[in-house]
Amino acid sequence: MEHILIIGGGVGGALAHDLTLRGYRVTLVERGELLSGTTGRHHGLLHSGGRYVFHDAETARECYEENRILRHIASEAIEPNGGLFIALNEEDISHQDRFLEGCNAAGIPTAPLSPRQAMSREPALNPALLAAVGVPDAVMDAWRLAMAFFATARANGAAIRTFCEVTDLKMLGRQVAGVRVIDHRSGLSETIGADLVVNAAGPWSGRIAAMAGIGVPIQPGPGVMVAVRGRVTQAVVNRLHPAGEGDIIVPQRRLSVLGTTAWLADDPDQVTAPAEHVARLFSLCAELVPAVAAMAPHAVWSASRPLLQSSQDQDPFAISRTFDCFDHAARDGIEGLVTLIGGKATTMRAMAEQTADLIGRKTGRDIACHTRETILLPYRRYWRGDMGN
Ligand SMILES: Cc1cc2nc3c(=O)[nH]c(=O)nc-3n(C[C@H](O)[C@H](O)[C@H](O)COP(=O)(O)OP(=O)(O)OC[C@H]3O[C@@H](n4cnc5c(N)ncnc54)[C@H](O)[C@@H]3O)c2cc1C
Repeated sequence: MEHILIIGGGVGGALAHDLTLRGYRVTLVERGELLSGTTGRHHGLLHSGGRYVFHDAETARECYEENRILRHIASEAIEPNGGLFIALNEEDISHQDRFLEGCNAAGIPTAPLSPRQAMSREPALNPALLAAVGVPDAVMDAWRLAMAFFATARANGAAIRTFCEVTDLKMLGRQVAGVRVIDHRSGLSETIGADLVVNAAGPWSGRIAAMAGIGVPIQPGPGVMVAVRGRVTQAVVNRLHPAGEGDIIVPQRRLSVLGTTAWLADDPDQVTAPAEHVARLFSLCAELVPAVAAMAPHAVWSASRPLLQSSQDQDPFAISRTFDCFDHAARDGIEGLVTLIGGKATTMRAMAEQTADLIGRKTGRDIACHTRETILLPYRRYWRGDMGN
């Protein structure tokens, strides 16, 4: 079977899982620890799709479908606590019909609630709320969910090498034939040959493409998140309006994550968490749950969305959260290289399926995808057996 080399230990883990199930020989290289990019650093919202129904119907549908699949294949990493979209003023109320129609079109179930019903479910909500809609949002453990994909891929034979950074592509004319890596533990460089290389480097995917002399439509879109101590609500709380700043609170175990801000950046390695973003998150999220105003940050961090730049839109909230994979043979005349860009942690399995289907077409193999129904191993299994990397 062909040897596929994946660059990037984020959604690359879901791809390693899919490809090993299809019988490919798989090696994945990650420059840091697994999940040290964006996939280990997000809110942990298992999207119902509700946040995308206003501008991004395709992502809304993708999210709801994957929400249902992940609950089935990775239940250990998911808390099925539900979500609420709440309207706090007349402008929010004016979005309600469009929200309900959008959810309906994407197949997302909704449960309109009166203010009294919403307050009895979540007593810490702003008592001035005018309306609420229940949706099947849930919370994922960002780390455990993704590690369950790595654990299963590894048990099925994938070689996973951490602290192993791609410094160049091995080019034979216009063919990518492998990668040049430096192992940061040993300090040694080596070349790893492969029949096909997948660029799954998320916000850094432009750098990998540049090694082949080509460009890809990646736009890093950082955002800041703040954790406060205690669960201010049990369900996820969103503001009922087109997604914007400071409009979501995600309870995570004994913390609540306030999210998020968004801007566009050139270099995902230079992303900070500006103090004014933290202040804005407290003030905006206190509109959802007033008690937040008196809380102190327990943790503050940022991460970069790997946005698929399909238009010249400069509003990071308006850029679609859908994904695409590119065959650079067809697109740029470079054989042996595929790039995967965009998506959400919620849609990582679907991203992997679409990429593995493309690899199947490129390698002339018609092998069905089985990741929809294959229950993932517990994340702890990653460390059982060979401790190598
Ligand atoms: C603020 C914020 C909040 C979010 N909240 C949510 C949420 O609640 N729910 C949700 O579903 N999604 C959420 N997302 C989106 C989601 O986190 C991302 O879409 C997803 O994690 C991106 O995965 P990725 O694998 O493409 O990128 P990454 O996870 O960044 O993976 C790419 C990997 O490539 C590695 N790499 C880079 N260069 C090299 C190299 N040269 N050699 C080897 N390895 C390399 C990096 O170290 C990195 O680990 C959020 C994103 C942000 C920024």
